[in-house]
Amino acid sequence: MTDCPEESLDPADWTETQETARRMVEDAFAHIGTLRDRPVWQQMPQSVRDHFETNVPMDPMPVGAVYEEFQSHVLPYAMGNTHPRFWGWYMGSGNMTGAMADFLAAIDGSNLGGGNTAAAQVDRQVVNWLKQMVEFPASASGTLTSGGSVANMVCLTVARNKMAGVDVREEGITALPKPLRFYTSDQVHSASQKALETLGLGRRALHIVPSDANLKLDIAALKKAIEDDRAAGYLPTCVIATAGTTNTGAIDEMPTIADLCERENMWFHVDGCIGALIKIAPENRSLVDGIERADSMALDPHKWLHTPFEAGCALVRDAALHFHTFELHGEYLEEKPRGVAAAEFLGDYGFELSRGFKALKIWMSIKEQGVAKFGRLIDQNIAQGSYLTQLIQENALLELVAPTSINIVCFRYRGSSLAETELKELNTEIMLRLQETGVAVPSDTTVGDRHCLRVAINNHRTKKQDLDLLVREVTRLGQDLERARHNSLASHRS
Ligand SMILES: *Cc1c(COP(=O)(O)O)cnc(C)c1O
Repeated sequence: MTDCPEESLDPADWTETQETARRMVEDAFAHIGTLRDRPVWQQMPQSVRDHFETNVPMDPMPVGAVYEEFQSHVLPYAMGNTHPRFWGWYMGSGNMTGAMADFLAAIDGSNLGGGNTAAAQVDRQVVNWLKQMVEFPASASGTLTSGGSVANMVCLTVARNKMAGVDVREEGITALPKPLRFYTSDQVHSASQKALETLGLGRRALHIVPSDANLKLDIAALKKAIEDDRAAGYLPTCVIATAGTTNTGAIDEMPTIADLCERENMWFHVDGCIGALIKIAPENRSLVDGIERADSMALDPHKWLHTPFEAGCALVRDAALHFHTFELHGEYLEEKPRGVAAAEFLGDYGFELSRGFKALKIWMSIKEQGVAKFGRLIDQNIAQGSYLTQLIQENALLELVAPTSINIVCFRYRGSSLAETELKELNTEIMLRLQETGVAVPSDTTVGDRHCLRVAINNHRTKKQDLDLLVREVTRLGQDLERARHNSLASHRS
């Protein structure tokens, strides 16, 4: 046997790595400090795309050169959600302390599946803080997840197992005595349907109830749906209420739904990915009264706590039910009275065993800023939503397409006498031009049957002047496009 020298990923001399690390930190601050001067987003050239088509490298490359590639080929083509004028879909805008914490979490290196570590204590504490923030009892349980999709799925799994009327873990869903039915409005996020499909219950287990004029779950229609299903032999299982819908930010009538679930012996689940944290906003907290009565709740620190992606959280009122839904250890994973394994296994509260130390980025930024600041920033975004709404209402060329409940504004350029399909085409073009020129990133949606631009102001860097600019640009682009359309019609006729 030849005697190979033993290797490691750690170099004998760290000098180059340390130099690169110092450069990274300096560049990072310069990048975040100058966001406003740069386009929100830019299209990657084909040469950059091609850069990612090479085979796996066999040979080494200095870390400084690898970092150069990140600087030239990756960072300039980011999504842009850290920028003050990013309002597309629904994202947080991150924060520097959270970013630094992600580095420290990797240095700590702990696996948060379990273990007698301070990292696990931080994870537990962050879950406890989130419970406190949404006024869940101290006896409730929770788990940090990758995001709201997994958080909803964790909650709905507990709901399914509790309500099934059979031991689902043992017998599986084919043994269900009655088909389960989950109720929600037509404004529900797709994550709930995906969860029910994945849980083997099927899309039909999701009974979609219409929403009312304010885009909230219609309570009369909900009651009727439950009654009809019961009569038809289904088991009304759970209401999925949304605190802040993704489309328009509507908040379902929580106290009424909580009462109804109590009366009907149903599980009350709140998808609070957007709105649960309004609980910490001093001016608007009453908007989400009643969510604290939920049996389970999904929320998303990577939205209104601006935790760098990713971080979601599932909370369950009955900790024992939560534990018994997921608890399972192989013989290689026994809890011990002492040593590294002398701890609760955090992996017993969800599907994932190996888990990252995502708690640290939440823990450090909450400690640094204080939770009151995050609450004020939520109020600030909601006030900016009203401000933008007012600008739109005062502008004869624009039209509000849904009532603004919180920080999501749905509107369109209306111009003069255009049909729905023409309006959709024109507003889509406005949106794409805003994105491609890097001026702003709104997204779009359809409310009822009207297509519109959608501005979700979940951004601690946005200022009113950014919204002024948006309105100016949408109006200008709309007028330009309408004029061009007229001219081309006229030239066709002549
Ligand atoms: C964002 C969102 C989700 C999905 O959460 P992810 O963190 O993207 O997985 C679910 N429900 C609502 C209401 C959301 O806004």
